[in-house]
Amino acid sequence: RNGFLKESFILSVDVGTSSIRSHVYDREANIRGTCSTKVVLLYPEVGHVEMEPDMLWRGFISVVKGAVQDAGVHMRQISALGISTLRGTFTTWDRRTSVPFHNFISWQDQRAAELVKSWNTSCVMKLVYSLTRQKRSLAASLIVFSTQHVTFRLVWALTHSKQARQAIEEGNCCFGTIDTWLIYKLTKGQVHATDYSNASSTGLFDTYQMCWSGFLCYLVSLPMSILPTMADQQAAMFGECCFDVGDVKITMGTGTFMDINTGNEPHTAGLYPLVGWKIGSEVVYLAEGNAADTGTAVKWAQELDLFTDVGETSAMAASVSDSDGVCFVPSFSGLQAPLNDPKACASLMGLKPSTTKRHLVRAILESLSFRNKQLYDIMLRETSIPITKIRVDGGVSSNDFVMQLTADLFGRKVARPQHHDMSCLGAAFVAGLVVGFWRNQEELKKLQCTDRVFLPKEGASPPSRDYLQVLQTWEGALRRSMNWYN
Ligand code: ADP
Repeated sequence: RNGFLKESFILSVDVGTSSIRSHVYDREANIRGTCSTKVVLLYPEVGHVEMEPDMLWRGFISVVKGAVQDAGVHMRQISALGISTLRGTFTTWDRRTSVPFHNFISWQDQRAAELVKSWNTSCVMKLVYSLTRQKRSLAASLIVFSTQHVTFRLVWALTHSKQARQAIEEGNCCFGTIDTWLIYKLTKGQVHATDYSNASSTGLFDTYQMCWSGFLCYLVSLPMSILPTMADQQAAMFGECCFDVGDVKITMGTGTFMDINTGNEPHTAGLYPLVGWKIGSEVVYLAEGNAADTGTAVKWAQELDLFTDVGETSAMAASVSDSDGVCFVPSFSGLQAPLNDPKACASLMGLKPSTTKRHLVRAILESLSFRNKQLYDIMLRETSIPITKIRVDGGVSSNDFVMQLTADLFGRKVARPQHHDMSCLGAAFVAGLVVGFWRNQEELKKLQCTDRVFLPKEGASPPSRDYLQVLQTWEGALRRSMNWYN
């Protein structure tokens, strides 16, 4: 028992879109204690998605305490705390009182869709696009504006909050993504900081110069005084041990995020360049493509009573030989890469009197794999980096039907790890490396366990169907759903 009390652990928290999870890890990366709570999303208006900052803080504290208690250890046995958070979700607050000026505005929020569209098609941006062909550092931060980036949602928030504008004038306004807010609260207002990986997801960061983009802030009139300083970090990619150039991970949770390790160079064209992690002086870059509606599509189908438990869906989809010609477009928050249309709608097409729930479920799950295929193709095309391995994680990756179809469409093997909550594990790995709990990345690779490897089937899957034909029909449905909300 004395020996047990001397043992030390790493505590890690992942703040996701649907839940906050915390795990206590031992040296073999086994989970020794765990706790989670639901994230309450607020929908005050159509297209607005928010979270209450103080409720989030209380949720964070409760899972930290809960996981340590569940492990039956003392807080002093925790060597380090790793934090991974959903990105592109921000609030602003008063530096003196820590009181937020508004709720967190989520990455799924569409309130800036109009602004984004008008900027992307403006003559200013046409000029910028022609300039960025020569200036690489500008290209990194400017490519194409998106509602998932903080930029125009922050412009919106500052335009609508008189208090925030006044605090800016007085030098008392703090901007922060969720990591920044948690660090600010944990340090009782002493530290206003973020890490490079979170900063590079805001759209306000210049990945070539590794600092906030003064040019972009000037362009859209955002005061740089509200931005936090930078500390080091990163998550799911790290948890998957995707340390080498060409390693790919696909996280399928609320949305899908496909990332490729591009090494020590940021990638410019098509996909978004991100800082993967900066540990010491080493910076590793990622290129990312994403689809916003993955778990949201499954949840929606569940609310319609197409099934009771998400665990049933894989078998339901496999119980019919095809979707009976039904196509589902998973686009509740617009379409991201490669079509980038914030005005696209979600849709179900090709319904017939013969269509059953099982066909609908199959169409929905197929659409998630089809979005993977689109992201994979653009990744191959844009980066020209030979892919070394593909690993998947996130709630939806536990769906065998989606994973098998993904492997079939890629024509490559796809591995699913045994570990759940990869972002939590990644944050634990980074925290553990920093305090010397684990020695190096090679040691971390040895801790990885694979649950299942999905090998592509010979020909199309299932054998009687030609999936390329189905994919083409689905792409037709996608095109018809574009530019719906004008
Ligand atoms: P996040 O980290 O974004 O909060 P998670 O990785 O926890 O998301 O994934 C949650 C989503 O995964 C939920 O929307 C849930 O419906 C979906 N999900 C969980 N298990 C399955 C399954 N077997 N098949 C399909 N979807 C699933």
